[in-house]
Amino acid sequence: MGSAIRPLVAGNWKMNGMRDSLAQIKHVSESSALAISNAEALICVPATLLHSAAVMTAGTPLRIGAQNCHHEEDGAYTGDISAGMIADSLGSHAIVGHSERRLVYRECDASVRSKAAAAHKASLTAIICIGETEEERIGDRTLEVLRCQLAGSVPDGATAANTVIAYEPIWAIGTGRTPSIADIAAAHAFIRAELSGRFNGEGDRMRLLYGGSVKPSNAAGILEIDHVNGALVGGASLMAADYLAICAAC
Ligand code: PGA
Repeated sequence: MGSAIRPLVAGNWKMNGMRDSLAQIKHVSESSALAISNAEALICVPATLLHSAAVMTAGTPLRIGAQNCHHEEDGAYTGDISAGMIADSLGSHAIVGHSERRLVYRECDASVRSKAAAAHKASLTAIICIGETEEERIGDRTLEVLRCQLAGSVPDGATAANTVIAYEPIWAIGTGRTPSIADIAAAHAFIRAELSGRFNGEGDRMRLLYGGSVKPSNAAGILEIDHVNGALVGGASLMAADYLAICAAC
């Protein structure tokens, strides 16, 4: 680990998990591997499992979060859930601006920013996702894209306690491909400099996660890069043994 910031390993179950998956949450929360890991552990489950998982894991090292929230507190938004509802269900974090939401639901930076602000208002930690497409990387536009997304998606009230930034190159998500160690290092150093420039000491201490095809075999190498303060893990978080192995790599 490249700094004294305590790493966070955030699982993102996406649209996976039925009630019988709660047994897996229980297993992870009670694992001795988690108890001795240096990492803070979090799994962001589907909204249907949020409250049950949070109640089940109360008092254990595993935190439970959500994968999205609406920017309004309540109202006529059929199918959505508010940050306050997540907090009321005992969730601690909400992922906002995941690339699947940006691409499939056309969420823009302004929408992500207002969702993060709503999460803060409900006393949740917002995990704000950013990352370039493959076309942008090939066109050497990665840092420019990251600069725009940071400026547009991170609200003014962000602090090291209420905000985590997840750098997820879109082409690395679910593909088994990852950027080189040098490319991850360059992106994270850039993100750190942008955050420190805007938020001073809070930006120095904000956690920066890498996400995109993190698995037990590559976790240790990625987690030791400077300014990588943990991982956002999709596919591998669905298997308790893999998730715990990534936590153990911290
Ligand atoms: P992956 O997904 O680990 O399956 O690549 C990461 C994510 O989408 O957060």
